[in-house]
Amino acid sequence: MTYEELKKQDPEIYEIIQKESQRQRLGLEMIPSENYASSAVLEALGSILTDKYAEGYPGKRYYGGNVHIDEVERLAQKRAKAVFGADGYHVNVQPLSGSPANLAVYFALLERGDTIMSLKLDHGGHLTHGSPVNFSGKNYNFVYYPLDPKTEMLDYDVIEKLVIEHKPKIILTGYTAYPRTIDFERIATIASHAGAISMADVSHISGLIVGGAHQSPFPAIDIVTTTTHKTLRGPRAAMIFCREKYKEQIDKAVFPGMQGGPHENTIAAVAVALAEAGKSEFRDYVRQIVKNAQALAETLTAEGLKLVSGGTDNHLMLIDLRPFTAGSGVFVDKALEEVGISTNKTTVPNDPMPPYYPSGIRLGTPALTSRGMKEKEMQEIGKMIARIAKEFGPIELPQEKEKRAAALKEFTRQMTHTAIIKEIKAQVEELAVRFPVPGID
Ligand SMILES: *Cc1c(COP(=O)(O)O)cnc(C)c1O
Repeated sequence: MTYEELKKQDPEIYEIIQKESQRQRLGLEMIPSENYASSAVLEALGSILTDKYAEGYPGKRYYGGNVHIDEVERLAQKRAKAVFGADGYHVNVQPLSGSPANLAVYFALLERGDTIMSLKLDHGGHLTHGSPVNFSGKNYNFVYYPLDPKTEMLDYDVIEKLVIEHKPKIILTGYTAYPRTIDFERIATIASHAGAISMADVSHISGLIVGGAHQSPFPAIDIVTTTTHKTLRGPRAAMIFCREKYKEQIDKAVFPGMQGGPHENTIAAVAVALAEAGKSEFRDYVRQIVKNAQALAETLTAEGLKLVSGGTDNHLMLIDLRPFTAGSGVFVDKALEEVGISTNKTTVPNDPMPPYYPSGIRLGTPALTSRGMKEKEMQEIGKMIARIAKEFGPIELPQEKEKRAAALKEFTRQMTHTAIIKEIKAQVEELAVRFPVPGID
């Protein structure tokens, strides 16, 4: 993108975009939910399709002039079903993002107070899987299954027992911080024996599913939601797949239940991303994501760090800092940010600390793999991350809650000037500039 007109008309916003482009070029993006949309996706997103009101669905709009908009939305639906191999499913491509997509499913299929079973949030579930501060947790009765305390992986026998005990209407699988594969068929079997609806939120792994690097939820699972901007590499949006028998309820819940006019420029960009995901290069891409994650996990382990569940099968991993000290995720996260490695602090299973001061770091390889990095770079980066984690992981967070913010501020002030930070920051830049950023370079 050249942004010529923007530069003339609004130099302030133009300047900010330039600075952010530079940050993306010089840094290593390792937040596992982030990625780079292609220039073609960005062009569709920035198109005149944003000007059109299209409340309703193709062929049944509340506004005139939607002939071409209908073509866009139908094409997105057709490509979504083809790329995911979702025969016998209906797909709604209008949800504005992953969270409203999940809420629309609950709104469509449940009454307030009904029971949903999902993974405990500090074991890897998403905010919309029943967090007490989220609409989901405030309006529905969430009950949880845990990860196995020893393996830190799903235990399907335990899930089955809990389902029989709690009789949820929906069993929810698909997570935000789980580094292992999910057996969708097993979840679907457990659900159908209990007369429950199975739902998979595959937001994180939808790219891996499309590219054949993870078991598909189709045709086992009843309802599948996904964001389109993570491993799928599209614009920020989401989709809901459902069995035909739920079509009316789901469509009604999205519009008019939760939303007004759909963002058809975004839906066009989703269609572009889906076409890209259908190509054989995309299969190579997602396979490389997993290979890179495994190379990174091996390096971190060899350097003496503990990973939740001992490694990864997908695109992400969690460093457990408790062997150093609980609650040091904020320090390591800050130090990594300072050297230009973006990750995020995260709770680890049974974390004794609260989510703002957790004991883990979550990191992943989708964005770096989009830049063309391979196992060799992962080994280099793994060593840098390990040095930072070993240096700053042992720093104790104050016991007193009111002293924590000040401690973090003081830490940041001092850490910035240390030799190790300066050295690794230079290494990061030197590595990063060698790899172009899709959509920018
Ligand atoms: C990212 C994510 C979402 C929410 O997506 P937003 O677009 O940020 O609202 C929902 N569920 C899971 C599992 C996710 O990882």
